[in-house]
Amino acid sequence: MSSSSSSPPPPPPPPPPKLPIPGRRNILITSALPYVNNVPHLGNIIGCVLSADVFARYCRLRGYNALYICGTDEYGTATETKAMEEKCSPKEICDKYHAIHDEVYKWFDIKFDKFGRTSSPQQTEICQAIFHELMKNNWLSENTMQQLYCDTCQRFLADRLVEGACPTQGCTNKAARGDQCDNCSHMLNPTELIDPKCKVCKNTPHIRETDHLFLELPLLKGKLVNYINDTSVAGMWSQNAIQATNAWLKEGLKPRCITRDLKWGVPVPMEKYKDKVFYVWFDAPIGYVSITASYTPEWEKWWKNPDNVELFQFMGKDNVPFHTIMFPSTLLGTGENWTMMKTISVTEYLNYEAGKFSKSKGIGVFGNDAKNTNIPPEVWRFYLLMSRPEASDTLFTWTDLQAKLNSELVHNLGNFINRVLSFVAKPAGAGYGSIIPDAPGAESHPSTSELADKINKRVDQYLDAMEKVKLKQGLKIAMSISDEGNAYLQGSEFWRLYKEDPISCAIVIKTSVGLVYLLTCLLEPFMPSFSNEVLRQLNLSPEENLSFSEEKGESVKAKTPWDFLPAGHKIGRPTPLFEELKDDIVSEYRKKYAGSQAERSSKEVADAEATKIANQLRSTTLSEGGSKKEQKKQSGSSKSKAEVSVAKLDIRVGLIRKAEKHPDAVSLYVEEIDVGEEDPRTVVSGLVKYIPLEEMQNRKVCVLCNLKPVAMRGIKSHAMVLAASSDDHTKVELVEPPAGAAVGERVTFAGYSGEPEASLSGKSKVWEKLAADLHSNGERVACYKDVPFTTSAGVCKVKTIANGEIR
Ligand SMILES: [Zn+2]
Ligand SMILES: [Zn+2]
Repeated sequence: MSSSSSSPPPPPPPPPPKLPIPGRRNILITSALPYVNNVPHLGNIIGCVLSADVFARYCRLRGYNALYICGTDEYGTATETKAMEEKCSPKEICDKYHAIHDEVYKWFDIKFDKFGRTSSPQQTEICQAIFHELMKNNWLSENTMQQLYCDTCQRFLADRLVEGACPTQGCTNKAARGDQCDNCSHMLNPTELIDPKCKVCKNTPHIRETDHLFLELPLLKGKLVNYINDTSVAGMWSQNAIQATNAWLKEGLKPRCITRDLKWGVPVPMEKYKDKVFYVWFDAPIGYVSITASYTPEWEKWWKNPDNVELFQFMGKDNVPFHTIMFPSTLLGTGENWTMMKTISVTEYLNYEAGKFSKSKGIGVFGNDAKNTNIPPEVWRFYLLMSRPEASDTLFTWTDLQAKLNSELVHNLGNFINRVLSFVAKPAGAGYGSIIPDAPGAESHPSTSELADKINKRVDQYLDAMEKVKLKQGLKIAMSISDEGNAYLQGSEFWRLYKEDPISCAIVIKTSVGLVYLLTCLLEPFMPSFSNEVLRQLNLSPEENLSFSEEKGESVKAKTPWDFLPAGHKIGRPTPLFEELKDDIVSEYRKKYAGSQAERSSKEVADAEATKIANQLRSTTLSEGGSKKEQKKQSGSSKSKAEVSVAKLDIRVGLIRKAEKHPDAVSLYVEEIDVGEEDPRTVVSGLVKYIPLEEMQNRKVCVLCNLKPVAMRGIKSHAMVLAASSDDHTKVELVEPPAGAAVGERVTFAGYSGEPEASLSGKSKVWEKLAADLHSNGERVACYKDVPFTTSAGVCKVKTIANGEIR
């Protein structure tokens, strides 16, 4: 759409930095800083930068003095490890990925006032200044920790720089990472690894004691709770934010380590700690401040001005505690007059087709993929915002995108605008020769004044929703104005009026043109490129006309929509605004973006750029969700080229006849499971921590029957009970066949046929490869990729864990 516009005028000189203006609403907006080491996917884009962009644009539209700050989060283990592997500097890694992020966001029309980075001199300065205040106020303590030290490399090793045999019973992985085992998914401490090795030099590190600094969260709790109690009400925090925060408080605050043995970070400004840097959770949120400081030296006018500045922060749900607990504690601890967060806007997850967007697995549509589809940015933005996961996870599907584009944008909005403008553009005798007609008496025209009442109410609802950062609701209300417009226009039979009642016809058309203008303004936060195009067709300049403020009286005009645009104004040339998405294109995209980015590139379906970035992705250690969480397991699936058929797994419906605790291991159960054979099999499972013994009795389970038997603490296990685990591995639930499933029947997967292997042991790693794609989907159905575990009585499910891994 935007490609049809004429060449843009030369860019104006950059405006002076915005500063808070006394007496105005000054709104500081941040979105969670995306971690630099990856290409953002659609889930990340809706989760933070896009949502914050919509709100920032809304604020500007309303005439508020808004500043939108974001940037890449660059310090930490992931970057440093990556740099060592690629034999380049962490800075080079960051430069490369910062540019990718920048490009993706530009394409999505994200209008930051500043998109900066955390690896800046301002970051060092502000981070160290905050540290000095915390030190001075006695909120920091020292503690000794045991860590692995490599003599050859002369350094303490970060969790992921250590590899060794997994200590988990029954797991045979010899190359588990210090933070987690990729095979059994257990979270680990590097000191637990058996025969640990330094990943860099392969020598054996040893345990050494080292001192670290801790932020005394328990001592700050009083101040923190006061802040949370006051602000969560005043700032209308969403329910998911409040819940996550309370969960942390309830668990009890513990002193939290703020230092790390790394080089790539902000140095701790103390002689004793000169070889350490600040831990990324501590320094990353300070990035909001330092990026503002790289925007203007007068940053304190934004950040130390709580009486005149409102701070709105946008993020995904996994980031909540860093913004409601950790960062506020840091700021409160300085005793300085910081602008604290007022409103937090949290999104849940956007899932992709049957699975989950995953950076580490390369699953889903990535920022650069979106650009390569011929679907314009305004359509992507519209669809993502319509699917914004505000209260629960939502699902991206190509079919849904097609349905929403065709029904809402093409047939509702696009149709309304094009119909009105085309009619105005028709030559005199058939239309108005592109001149907006005068419409005296509009206020007493019955259907028009009725419409004006409805529109005025809708506009009030829109403003109310947007003020409360209910963006999806705001978008839906704006779209309903287009519905009203269509109904009004159609009901007026304007083509008949044109001949029979020209006065009424002029009223209907002038009012409708007013609605077109109104929609252009209200939808600008959601679809700026759409609004620019409509303004072009209206022959209005965006600079002067994109505004909907109280001050300039635009919002009052919603009561008299025929007044939005003056009679006599000559409009430009109307053209259709949206194109339908056809079925064959949709199925092409679905195929093209199925599987991981790496698989796609091996199929040579992705074009040159996608391939390039996929290659970078494959060679990069990635972190999940733009969060400060340390990285999750990397999947085997992105590495395997040829697909192994899931039919090789012998998964059967089993019935637990008896379960008891393992005599020699507190974490294990020993079960007798009927899998349709003459005798039940003895199975050992590490489920004690997650499932009470009474719930293990006499229930149907899914059992993997062709693993090579292994002895677990002296008892041989002849099968494996399949269970799903939550993201953070705190919850594990059994995969349950439907009640009517027959004991011993095989669990099948549509589209995969064949006999199971006799035994899955050996070097082929069939189980490991397939296991990477076993998961529960958004509906809690157990799946291999997007194919459900199926029995004669229906599909298998887990009780509560959606999008969990199944092992
Ligand atoms: Zn393991
Ligand atoms: Zn080493």
